[in-house]
Amino acid sequence: MTTNAFSTLPLSQALLSNLDTLGYHEMTTIQAQSLPPVLEGRDLIAQAKTGSGKTAAFGIGILHKLNPAWFAVQGLVLCPTRELADQVANELRRLARGEGNIKVLTLTGGTAMRPQIASLEHGAHIVVGTPGRIRDHLGRGTINLSHVQTLVLDEADRMTDMGFYDEIAGIVSACPQRRQTLLFSATYPDDIRRATEPFLVDPVEVIVEAQH
Ligand code: ADP
Ligand code: MG
Repeated sequence: MTTNAFSTLPLSQALLSNLDTLGYHEMTTIQAQSLPPVLEGRDLIAQAKTGSGKTAAFGIGILHKLNPAWFAVQGLVLCPTRELADQVANELRRLARGEGNIKVLTLTGGTAMRPQIASLEHGAHIVVGTPGRIRDHLGRGTINLSHVQTLVLDEADRMTDMGFYDEIAGIVSACPQRRQTLLFSATYPDDIRRATEPFLVDPVEVIVEAQH
């Protein structure tokens, strides 16, 4: 008996069969607890340890709402480092495979601006990036976040530890007020919750204790 099957969720057949192809048959604990409120459109604060499948928890949320026929940045994921942004973008590309042509663009520091600007002019459905570089694009007017429906703060504890708070606040204010905001963290989010309170509306909190 499988109660945590992805097929219990109201997802498209294309997404369900792609998850099956990826070998994702059962939801992990954080996915099982966060996906139902995420798919209802609720804001979310979620804490679970590294390796628990947080990327798919928000990735499926982004894809569920995304309109592939509309070439605008509909999903934005902020990550603390370039390596993590690359990992998240790759996982999102795998998850998006069943949905047709979904463009996931990575925008991180340490790379030239010009090719990133060219990619942005070309368009993307989902942007994954680090706060400093996204803020930089906003300042230059080379990114438009006015169509973002889902904003994800991934590894929010590390981003605030690294001093990205002001950049994040600037980015949030460039997103529509009417949006879904999902915050993921690996540590207990008490001070994170306080710091990010202005970014979330009545968030559902999901905490998955480490299993021994
Ligand atoms: P976290 O962000 O919590 O550290 P990740 O999202 O990086 O974790 O996922 C860790 C690994 O688990 C990845 O290799 C991912 O492909 C895999 N994974 C995620 N969800 C599932 C699932 N439901 N079934 C099987 N593997 C999964
Ligand atoms: Mg992660």
